[in-house]
Amino acid sequence: MTGTILQGQNFIDGGWRTGAVGFETRNPSDLDEVVGAYSKVGAAEVDEAMAAATRALPGWRGFNMQARADLLRKAGDLLMARAIEIGALLSREEGKTLPEGIGEANRAGQCFHYFAAEVVRAQGEWYNSMRDGHNVIVTREPVGVVAAITPWNFPIALPAWKVAGALAFGNTVVLKPSSFVPGCAVLLARILEYVGLPQGVFNLVIGDGRATGDVMIDRAQAVTFTGGTETGRAVLRKAAETMTKAQLELGGKNAFVILDDADLDLAIETAANAAWVQTGQRCTATERLIVTRGVHDQVVERLAAKAQGYRIGHALDADTQIGPVANEKQFAENLAFVETGLREGAELVAGGVAVERRTRGYYMTPALFARSTEAMHINHHESFGPILSVIAVDDLDQAIAVANGTELALSSGIATTSLHSAEKFRRESKAGMVMVNTPTAGLEYHVPLGGRSPSGFGPRENGASSAEFFTESKTSYINHGVN
Ligand code: NAD
Repeated sequence: MTGTILQGQNFIDGGWRTGAVGFETRNPSDLDEVVGAYSKVGAAEVDEAMAAATRALPGWRGFNMQARADLLRKAGDLLMARAIEIGALLSREEGKTLPEGIGEANRAGQCFHYFAAEVVRAQGEWYNSMRDGHNVIVTREPVGVVAAITPWNFPIALPAWKVAGALAFGNTVVLKPSSFVPGCAVLLARILEYVGLPQGVFNLVIGDGRATGDVMIDRAQAVTFTGGTETGRAVLRKAAETMTKAQLELGGKNAFVILDDADLDLAIETAANAAWVQTGQRCTATERLIVTRGVHDQVVERLAAKAQGYRIGHALDADTQIGPVANEKQFAENLAFVETGLREGAELVAGGVAVERRTRGYYMTPALFARSTEAMHINHHESFGPILSVIAVDDLDQAIAVANGTELALSSGIATTSLHSAEKFRRESKAGMVMVNTPTAGLEYHVPLGGRSPSGFGPRENGASSAEFFTESKTSYINHGVN
C-alpha cells in the first residue's frame, strides 16, 4: 500500500492533460514518502474545461434516463469495489486511518447509488388552473454547468456527492479538489471515464483556489463549494458578479451539551468521538463541550483519561486510532490554537502537544481544555483540529444560550435522558443539524446536510434538498381547452 506514486493529471473534455506547474503531495504520516505527482492548470485550461462542460450539456440533459442511472450506479459499484485501494490512497494523502479511508470510499459509492436512484425520480407537480380549460405544471430542469470546489478533509466522499448529485439531475460538472489531496479526485475521474460518461460531462481541474475558482464561477450556472467560511465569502462575492447560483457548506464551532441527567458512559463516548476521532478534522466535529455543574468535574476527568488513551500514529498502522493532522498548515494552526487557549487562561488538562512517532509526521495528541469561558477566542473560532474546550453552565437554558452564542451554526448536540430537555434543545438550537445522544459528527447521505449562515448558504446538500440546488423550476400554463 505504500511506495507507489500516483501520477495524477487533469481531465478536460474527455482527455488527460498535464498542467504547467508540477507539484507533489507527501504522506502526513511519513513526510519522507511522496504520495502523488500532479500538475496545476492555468486559467486557459480551466476555461477549456468550462467550455467542454457547456458543449456537453445538451447531450447529457437529454441522455436516456435509464442509461444515466446505470452510469452512476456503475461508478458507485466501482468506487466500492476499489474501496481498499482508494481508502489506502486517502489514508496516505490525507492521514485518516485505513478503516476511516475505506469507510469514506464506500460512502462515496453509496452516494453514487443514491443519486442513480434519484435520476428516475424526476420531480414535477400538476395543478388545476384558475382559468377554465387550462392547467399548470411545475417541472424541474438541470441548472446547467456546475462548478464543484472541495476541501481536503473528505477527499473522496465530498467530490462524490457533489458530482453524483450534479450528474443525476442532468448537469455537467467541473470539479476542483483541494491541492492538498487531489489523488482521490483523480481516481474518481478515472472511474467516470471507465464507465463511459460522454466526453465533457465531467471534468477535473487541479489548480490554485482563487485563480481556478474565479474562472469556474464566471462560466458556471451554479457553484457548489465546501470549505472555510472566509473562502466561502470570497466565492459568494465572485458568484454575485455573474449571479451564479451558489451553495456553500462552511465551517462550524459545534457545541455538545451534557446535562446532569445524561447517561454518562454514552455522553463521554459521544463527545470524545465527535471531538477527536478523524483528528477533529470534520466540519461537524464537537469543539465546545457545555456541561452542567453536577457532572462537570466527572466529565472533565473521564474525558482527560479518554484523550490520553488514544493511540496516535501512522494512518496505515493497524492499531492506530487517530492519524496525523492532514497538512503542515493545519498542524501549525492547531498548535497555535492551543497556545491561544493557554494565553487566555483555559486549563489544558490533556494533550495538545506535537509528538514523535516512528516516521516523521504531523502528530499531535487530542487536546482538552477545562475552565474555558464563553468569551474566549477558542470558543468562537473554528480550530478544525482535535481540540475540545469545556464550558461549565448552571442549567439547560444557559447551555442553550451558550451553544447558540457563536456566529457559526452547523451542528449541535445534547446528552440527556430527559425527553423534555432533548426536545427543548432540538427546537431552540440554531444549528442546521441537531443530534440527541449521538455525536455532532456522522452524517447520512439521504437527508439534508448543512448549517445556517455563516456556516452555510443556499440550498442544503444531499437528500431531497439536492434537487433545489441542482435544478431550476419551470412553471408552465397550458390552455388545452378541455373543460
Ligand atoms: P478552504 O476554504 O481553504 O479551501 C476549500 C477549497 O476552496 C479548496 O479547493 C481551495 O483550493 C478552494 N479555494 C480557495 N480559495 C478560493 C477562492 N478564492 N475561490 C474559489 N475556491 C477557492 O478549506 P479547507 O482548508 O480545504 O477545508 C477546511 C474547511 O472546510 C473548514 O473550515 C471546514 O469546516 C470546512 N468544511 C465544511 C464542511 C461542511 O459541510 N460544512 C465540510 C467539510 C469541510
